[in-house]
Amino acid sequence: MKNKYFIKKPIYLIILTIIISLALFILLYGIVNLEKKIEKKMLKISTVDVLSITKNSADSIEKILKDKNYIEEIQNNKQIHREIEKTLELLITSNIKYAYLLYKDEKGIFRFLADGAKKNEKAFINQKFDIESSKWLEIFKLKKPLNLEHQYLHELSISYLFPILDSSNEVKLILAIDFSVERIEDIQNIISLMKTVIISITIITIIFLLILIIQSYRFLAIKKTAYIDNLTNVYNRNYMYELDNFINLNNYILAVIDIDYFKVVNDDFGHDIGDIVLKEVADMISFSTRDSEDIVIRYGGEEFIVFAKIKRNDSVPPLKVIERILENIRNHKFFYTKDDYIKLTVSIGVNLLPNESKTLLDAFKLADIALYNAKNAGRNNIQICDNLA
Ligand code: GH3
Ligand code: MG
Ligand code: MG
Repeated sequence: MKNKYFIKKPIYLIILTIIISLALFILLYGIVNLEKKIEKKMLKISTVDVLSITKNSADSIEKILKDKNYIEEIQNNKQIHREIEKTLELLITSNIKYAYLLYKDEKGIFRFLADGAKKNEKAFINQKFDIESSKWLEIFKLKKPLNLEHQYLHELSISYLFPILDSSNEVKLILAIDFSVERIEDIQNIISLMKTVIISITIITIIFLLILIIQSYRFLAIKKTAYIDNLTNVYNRNYMYELDNFINLNNYILAVIDIDYFKVVNDDFGHDIGDIVLKEVADMISFSTRDSEDIVIRYGGEEFIVFAKIKRNDSVPPLKVIERILENIRNHKFFYTKDDYIKLTVSIGVNLLPNESKTLLDAFKLADIALYNAKNAGRNNIQICDNLA
């Protein structure tokens, strides 16, 4: 079936749907990223002061412990422990819920040394601290402050880790604070509204285009059945008129094919066998041509039209294609029982330059005159029309 014309339009719609969906998804992705960017910026703005205060605390802890064995000193010297905890307690504000000092034991487990929390909530010395240690371990290599971000539904939170180095420049302690700010609801609301709008538009557009695609396929399916011959499954005469709208006759030669003495088949074997033979002739014509290039039409009772493409992918001259039809039908055995068959021939009229005619019908008429000549020349042959006729 030659459907290159039919399929084109829905394919454009499908491409359009894909492009629109992609564009909307990219937009959505951009908005989500924008949200993240805004929040990061906010977090940066609100944490500048916190960072410098915490840095001061880390420095003062370092001073308190100067020249001592950091961990042992805090573990054993109650006064120093108390002093450090006071420093940490000073850090606690509405935005900083936790401030604590940690060390890593020989087994690599993080443990509390001091905690700035309220009295009854304080972690005790050497209490184990469960964290995702791989990220925290980086600070021992970096020897620089590190921040770990977490996003929750209503707040953004950061754990700031400050390394406290001993005299040999090794990270001995980590001062950690958990800082959090509420997410600004206005920004979130605007962004979530934008997201909802875009998602809705995406869904509506996709549904709309899908309906359009389904409808156009249905329409084309109906149109297609209107153009297909029931008996032979090749195009019918209606299609010939449709073709007139878009075919470029420069690209084709036109052949009219008529079965020789077909009346005899009907008379001798009956109309039903005649139908079967007719379908087989159409199959032979389709078999001899290329679906992707040529166009086969059942123009009338036992008369067919073939538009054979001139520039072909198989590089066969178009007239050769027409000759192949004649030969294939001539050599074919049309079986009407398991053992009995009919031999048939066709006569063919060819118009090599259909584009020279004013209309498709005129081009056809010239080919038909050539067919008439072929009949007169004894049938079972091809005649080419004189375009000047
Ligand atoms: P020729 O073309 O060689 O001059 O002889 P012919 O016997 O083919 O002559 P003509 O074109 O006049 O006859 C065509 C016959 O085809 C007449 C008709 O009964 C038969 N025919 C047309 N349409 C159908 C069909 O759909 N089914 C069957 N079984 N026969 C058909
Ligand atoms: Mg005939
Ligand atoms: Mg005829």
